[in-house]
Amino acid sequence: MSAAAASLDMEAFRAEVRAFVHENLPETVREKVRLGIEPDKADTVAWERVLRDRGWLVPHWPLEWGGTGWSPAQRAVFQEELVLGHAPELGGLTFEMIGPVLIRFGDDAQKRRFLPEMVALEHVWCQGYSEPEAGSDLASLKTRAVRTRDADGREHYVVDGSKIWTSSAHHANWIFCLVRTDVEARAQEGISFLLIDMKTPGVTLRPIIGIHGWHLFNQVFLDGVKVPIEHRVGEENQGWTIAKSLLEFERLNLARVAENRRRLAKVRAIGEQVHEAGVPLFERPWFRRRFAELDVRLEALAATVMRFRLQADAGRRLGPETGLLKLTGSRLIQDIENLAVDALGPQTLAWDRTAHFELPDPSAPAPIVERHPYAPAASSRRFVTRGYTIAGGSSEIQHELLAKQVLGL
Ligand SMILES: Cc1cc2nc3c(=O)[nH]c(=O)nc-3n(C[C@H](O)[C@H](O)[C@H](O)COP(=O)(O)OP(=O)(O)OC[C@H]3O[C@@H](n4cnc5c(N)ncnc54)[C@H](O)[C@@H]3O)c2cc1C
Repeated sequence: MSAAAASLDMEAFRAEVRAFVHENLPETVREKVRLGIEPDKADTVAWERVLRDRGWLVPHWPLEWGGTGWSPAQRAVFQEELVLGHAPELGGLTFEMIGPVLIRFGDDAQKRRFLPEMVALEHVWCQGYSEPEAGSDLASLKTRAVRTRDADGREHYVVDGSKIWTSSAHHANWIFCLVRTDVEARAQEGISFLLIDMKTPGVTLRPIIGIHGWHLFNQVFLDGVKVPIEHRVGEENQGWTIAKSLLEFERLNLARVAENRRRLAKVRAIGEQVHEAGVPLFERPWFRRRFAELDVRLEALAATVMRFRLQADAGRRLGPETGLLKLTGSRLIQDIENLAVDALGPQTLAWDRTAHFELPDPSAPAPIVERHPYAPAASSRRFVTRGYTIAGGSSEIQHELLAKQVLGL
């Protein structure tokens, strides 16, 4: 196919996805996402069901497990149209992380059981990596799994320890965990990867409310939790390899280009609608300068992602330099949200817990201070993005990796 025909095809595909999102995403959910209000679990599951019924829930999985066979470029367009159409984020830990891990490292029985159940939306997974004393230095984790045998001869692990910062564990029914199965071995060599049913006796949760006022995190306690041996992925003590590979999945998405575009469009709208000293912010030099700088950084990031994508399409391996995508994309998103808060000024201070979760009630009395529609959720949104430079490996750790592995310092 010629380059012109391929790009025409891609435009037709983009139009098809855009129309689908427009026709199938409920207006209330679109409005929540647009205004920065957190969609609830029911909104997300309903949207996942719509995508599942269309065959678009796990486009990146192999065809036999429900994938679409799309090229990386098509998948990127699909992702972009979902984000720009204000669709809620999907259960990433299930579809982007543990699903691909099982496809790559799971045995036949694990694949046949778990993958169809994930596509049937019977599972919500959470990630049990971090511990109170093990974050950046993950290999120092202490949650212990001891292998034992019941009187009837069945083998299982007994797990004791605790995981922390476990995002959305209160919505999850399964957790994938790194546990220590050999205390004598070198740190990275004594770790195994277990799938744990959250209903197993001994699993308890403590909610942690974040600075954004949102119950996202939890501490998960594991006290004498019995895990069947068949729920270990890969060989015993080989969990570190699996843990690392999980972070490689969807590396190109870490730049969050589409999400950055959506958020920058929001800041542009604020700049056009909010006035300072009688003129729109967009005409004020301080705002214009900061907006232009963010716009340039976004275009540079988008071009860099495109370069990596062409490399991936040509079958070349992406090296550790993709770490810079997470580093720059997460900083950019924070700076965009900071500009939104600075632009809306004191309007963002009237902190209102429900603003993060609910659309405004049109029958409620008019507020004393008129607020821009983006103002109520602006502060909490900014604090949510604060975590983006920490989650999945902090910026300092990314710098370290880039310095050592890319620049050879
Ligand atoms: C939004 C969010 C969601 C998360 N979700 C999950 C989840 O679902 N499951 C899960 O397991 N974990 C999750 N985490 C935890 C996350 O993986 C850890 O917070 C992260 O790995 C950092 O670990 P820590 O918090 O223990 O900080 P520490 O490792 O104690 O680091 C503290 C500070 O020291 C710096 N530092 C540490 N080591 C070095 C070094 N060698 N060189 C230079 N600086 C260093 C760090 O950059 C950081 O600024 C989440 C975190 C966030 C913010």
